[in-house]
Amino acid sequence: MMEGSFVLPGDAVGSAEEFVPGDCTYAKGGMIFATTTGLVKVDSKTRSAQVIPKTNAPVKLCLGDIVVGEVIDLKDSLVIISLAFKKGHEDRPISDEEATIHISNVRNSYVKDLRHLFSVRDILKAKIIDERQMRLSTGDEDLGVIKAYCNRCMTGLMRKDNKLVCPNCGNTETRKTSSSYGLGVV
Ligand code: ZN
Repeated sequence: MMEGSFVLPGDAVGSAEEFVPGDCTYAKGGMIFATTTGLVKVDSKTRSAQVIPKTNAPVKLCLGDIVVGEVIDLKDSLVIISLAFKKGHEDRPISDEEATIHISNVRNSYVKDLRHLFSVRDILKAKIIDERQMRLSTGDEDLGVIKAYCNRCMTGLMRKDNKLVCPNCGNTETRKTSSSYGLGVV
């Protein structure tokens, strides 16, 4: 593999033994492949190989990317999210792009009721697991709700043990929180 090589989706970018897959790549069968048209870039410190999309589109969303968005609706088996930005591209907001999390991709264990784990207006961090239908997952420990508001009084909730507590009215709520809940960092 060559730094700066031009690749098409599905082209091999390098060996998974040598590099870890970065933005716009995925690993399969010991190799790393491009998910988009662009130029190969290697980070020698992190040993990651990524593809810089060649298009001028504001922000390209690829399989495996971490995105941040706001919950705008909850269905029986789906969380509907309005995407805000992609991790690492906080200065380039995403507009008018919606994504969904299916109940089976919320966490690694069974979920009975989504309404116990998300609420409209929550800000969450999730990983893209299907970039065509824009489906997300919050299964990993660092993924999930990073900011939530009290359903009674709209005050920002604080994490206390495994629950979220309202510092204003004392209301207790539950969410599928990210390990970085309330830290203000993505
Ligand atoms: Zn409250």
